Amino acid sequence: MADSEMSEERKRVTCQLCDQLLTDARTLSCNHSFCYTCLVSHRATESKKHCPTCQDVSLQDVCDLDLLPSNREINEVVANIIRSTKTHR
Ligand SMILES: [Zn+2]
Ligand SMILES: [Zn+2]
Repeated sequence: MADSEMSEERKRVTCQLCDQLLTDARTLSCNHSFCYTCLVSHRATESKKHCPTCQDVSLQDVCDLDLLPSNREINEVVANIIRSTKTHR
């Protein structure tokens, strides 16, 4: 599978932290999305409160990551990609 040409859509649903398709995507106030588990470990290391992508302080106001809503739109796109990858093999 040629991964070099990443579509915009694919990019939108790829986590910048783990470089994988988003799992349980959570979207910050700056509109960047990450896996829930990636955000948890990101917060745990170096107690960073910045968005890993744009360095916005969007994580600062989030006291509980569980309160960040899941991004259903992104989760659906991810599900579609996984489904189509499977049927193509
Ligand atoms: Zn991730
Ligand atoms: Zn951001």
